[in-house]
Amino acid sequence: MIKVTLPDGSVKEMAQGVTPMDVAKSISEGLARNVISASYNGTTIETTTTLTTDGTLILYTWNDKEGKKAFWHSTSHVMAQALQEMYHGIKLTLGPAIDNGFYYDVDFGDKKITDADFKKIEDRVLEISREKHEFKMRSVSKAEALEVYKDNEYKTELISNLEDGTITFCDHSNFFDLCRGGHIPNTGIIKAMKILSVAGAYWRGDEKNKQLTRVYGISFPKQKDLTDYLELLEEAKRRDHRKLGKELELFHFSQKVGQGLPLWLPKGAALRDRLEQFLKKAQKKAGYEQVVTPHIGMKDLYVTSGHYAKYGADSFQPINTPAEGEEFLLKPMNCPHHCEIYNARPWSYKDLPKRYAEFGTVYRYEQSGELHGLTRVRGFTQDDAHIFCTPDQLDAEFKNVIDLVLYVFGSLGFENFTAQVSVRDLDNPDKYIGSVENWEKAENAIISAAKDKGLNYVIEAGEAAFYGPKLDFMVKDALGRSWQLGTIQVDYNLPERFELSYKGADDKLHRPVMIHRAPFGSMERFIAILLEHTAGNFPIWLMPEQAIILSLSEKYENYAKKVLDLLENHEIRALIDNRNETIGKKIREAEMNKYPFMLIVGEEEEKNGTISVRQRGQEGKGNISVTIEEFAAIINEEINKTLKQF
Ligand SMILES: [Zn+2]
Ligand SMILES: [Zn+2]
Repeated sequence: MIKVTLPDGSVKEMAQGVTPMDVAKSISEGLARNVISASYNGTTIETTTTLTTDGTLILYTWNDKEGKKAFWHSTSHVMAQALQEMYHGIKLTLGPAIDNGFYYDVDFGDKKITDADFKKIEDRVLEISREKHEFKMRSVSKAEALEVYKDNEYKTELISNLEDGTITFCDHSNFFDLCRGGHIPNTGIIKAMKILSVAGAYWRGDEKNKQLTRVYGISFPKQKDLTDYLELLEEAKRRDHRKLGKELELFHFSQKVGQGLPLWLPKGAALRDRLEQFLKKAQKKAGYEQVVTPHIGMKDLYVTSGHYAKYGADSFQPINTPAEGEEFLLKPMNCPHHCEIYNARPWSYKDLPKRYAEFGTVYRYEQSGELHGLTRVRGFTQDDAHIFCTPDQLDAEFKNVIDLVLYVFGSLGFENFTAQVSVRDLDNPDKYIGSVENWEKAENAIISAAKDKGLNYVIEAGEAAFYGPKLDFMVKDALGRSWQLGTIQVDYNLPERFELSYKGADDKLHRPVMIHRAPFGSMERFIAILLEHTAGNFPIWLMPEQAIILSLSEKYENYAKKVLDLLENHEIRALIDNRNETIGKKIREAEMNKYPFMLIVGEEEEKNGTISVRQRGQEGKGNISVTIEEFAAIINEEINKTLKQF
């Protein structure tokens, strides 16, 4: 008998040689029907693998990440089988599962796969799947494996790097593949499959190697899941911030200015400014002071901070002055500058904490292939701040920052988030700067603050930066995608390097602790995510224009202007569309431009001193006729729904 421990801690005494599927059946038939993969003592195994020692068993279903991984990887085998049947002589390489689906890298030789072939391949995959072939692992000697794949230089390379005795093949139907394992029980549960795209990919990611064809696919246990997924992809395309940014005239990229350097158009600049003012106001209440620092700094500044040693080679290279031989770097981080602001005068413990905030623009080199809209750029503005405090103040300061981050998320409609506490990798202590004692203090402060604020958090070992542990917020957007937003980071290292100090109650000099934090992260990336989350329908308080006045004809221009003046008195941002166009066309365009309110004015309205209000997304309700005062009350109510007092 062996002892099989389940995730809930319960222990089952089972006969030696049972399989995960046997264990599932012993729990319930229903569970057994849903189990598609398993792990034993932390290693991925098959549901048919025999268990011979005591251990911890986890059973996975489609709802688990591991379950999906097995499902998608298994489908890649079936797709490889279909490809091999349809394109003779191709060479298969690797076919792993990825976050959404799987791919298979194939050397098609003189053959070519095109979009027109996708349907045929998908049909064949489903045909094979319906035959309910079991996936079975088989051990193969190194010599045999090399013989089988003697015409495939890719598999030969893979096999050469494996130890004899550890090599396995996976069989299903009449197909086999070199594979470590981790499959679903049989092909029958693959009910829907789609090839998403093909792209070039170098063997082993090295551009010196041959370029292969990467075939991307995804599969599901239900047809409906595939339909939903494809709709989600379409919606993501519609919400792509690069597309919306163009349509809403927010930002622009010019090859002449340079790749990855966004140009903010008037409407985009107004949006940014509004976000900045919003945060500045809250920060002022939270006791922050604004500072301003230059866009470049002496190379030595970053040598002192340690950034140069760590990132210097991969950064924009130094700027040299013509006569004096000075070397400057484009500012990759604001922190060193803020340390020097702190160093501008001596401090007593009574003066702390000092909280310096700056919308600081920084420049980081990214390879051109890595650039993507506003989410990966070469120049961006952080909503940065650095808090210098005593070790005793750390807990309270950390909690205050969490409050600010939660206020930002709440005001911008991000309701679904988790926190990730990134701590050291204890197996690699050399990766980190600073004393073990300080690291422990910092990690404990973060975890206790996260607990205290009731955050839903996970602890990730090995994810900390080299200079300190951190708390990152992972936000889910309207499409269910996860984004990292808002970072709070404790740092015992820079205060050391910049020799920061304050005089304590004991009249001796002490090192302050530093917190780096940025609720938005960067303005560029945040606006990109906000665009995709809201599809451009920002909260009304943030909208560049909250209302558009649509005149029924040019005759009502004067009344439209009067309405605009009145709206301005109520601090409502609006504009007039007085073109000689039909009202239907004006409404359609206003809707496309996402104005939250359309205010229609004509003879009736002018006579009564009213406006006819149409709210975006509430067309079914019909227009309501109100005075400007009444409208101001309506819009303020809408604003107060999202924008709370900090
Ligand atoms: Zn496999
Ligand atoms: Zn910093």
